[in-house]
Amino acid sequence: MSSQENAGPSHVMQTYARLPIALSHGEGAWVWDTQGRRYLDALSGIAVNTLGHAHPRLVAALTDQVGKLIHTSNLYQIPLQEQLADRLCALGGMDTAFFCNSGLEANEAAIKLARLHGHKRGIARPEIVVFERAFHGRSLATLSATGNPKVQKGFEPLVEGFVRVALNDASALQQVANTHPNVVAVFVEAIQGEGGIQPAHADFLQAARALCDRHGWLLMIDEVQCGTGRTGKWFAHQWAGVKPDVIAMAKGLASGVPIGAILARGAAATTFGPGQHGTTFGGNPLACRAALETLAVIEDDALLANAAARGDQIQHALRHAFSGLDGVVEVRGQGLMIGIELDRPAGDLVRLMLERGVLLNVTQERVIRLLPPLIFTADQADALVQALVPAVQDFLQTATAQ
Ligand SMILES: *Cc1c(COP(=O)(O)O)cnc(C)c1O
Repeated sequence: MSSQENAGPSHVMQTYARLPIALSHGEGAWVWDTQGRRYLDALSGIAVNTLGHAHPRLVAALTDQVGKLIHTSNLYQIPLQEQLADRLCALGGMDTAFFCNSGLEANEAAIKLARLHGHKRGIARPEIVVFERAFHGRSLATLSATGNPKVQKGFEPLVEGFVRVALNDASALQQVANTHPNVVAVFVEAIQGEGGIQPAHADFLQAARALCDRHGWLLMIDEVQCGTGRTGKWFAHQWAGVKPDVIAMAKGLASGVPIGAILARGAAATTFGPGQHGTTFGGNPLACRAALETLAVIEDDALLANAAARGDQIQHALRHAFSGLDGVVEVRGQGLMIGIELDRPAGDLVRLMLERGVLLNVTQERVIRLLPPLIFTADQADALVQALVPAVQDFLQTATAQ
């Protein structure tokens, strides 16, 4: 396949099914393609561009930082990393942070931490409870933790040491406690993203917390997609009022500069010792500066409240427009993490919306996924709804139900 600009076969490995546009620049929640067409960005590069595109404060901070220092390695003290750790621990009620470069790396660190926690307690073959439809990444350990056979197929043998149960089934979790003496942790997304915008219910997270306390397990929450303010709180699990032992972050944390992190509390905060985990790039000055500026803008511009308000606005408008419409199963989510589940495959809607000037995505085949930037305005939320509602109505008239 050739791109629009280059003749001949692509030398990029064909691991993605890409849409036929290339974006050239953006401003806020708007982006333009190389043909000059404008799109409303309701996806944020999959929950990454927290501050939208070309945010003046992020541009200024990164320009300043690039002129000073991009990378030093973790052989030296990194004051910006210390500052970011302080800030994230304060926001999450946690004690220590480890920085890496992506979501899977954060989760890989969490899995290693849980195993080490088990070994320190004399459990030689530790097991971690994970969930159906979970997504934790595509390294061997994280794809093994992922609850989607498509992600795993062809990469067997999988990494062992995971026990899988249904999400929001507290009795299944209790059953695991009765039958699996080697469990050391429960690893769960506060809201499953790739799994179809499926929230872990508050009472389920509270039951998991209680079981973890009773058995000395770690409660590890994957906030890679739902964290960094997206749901209207700094962390999505804060809606349930639970305190995890480990939090994994990435996607939106540095508004597009690659970063990942785990935050840990209590015994988990000191599980890793020197030499037990590490990364060359992780927590470099550029990424930490981008994250610090992202968090500062979220706070200064009250973007948590904005995410909550715009999310309510969009969900309310969609529920109203779709009420009684055959084919729409449910509108769900929290803040600016919204899923619209249809009763049939909805993948074609991505292209239909592209033609109508909106970027969004479909996951689990039938769930339209909206992840707008946290700077989304009320007018942009209206524009999104006004573009999406007729497109879904038209689509449902032509596509057959299954
Ligand atoms: C995207 C995602 C990951 C993987 O992050 P990468 O940066 O792509 O490795 C892990 N967990 C969740 C919940 C995600 O949404």
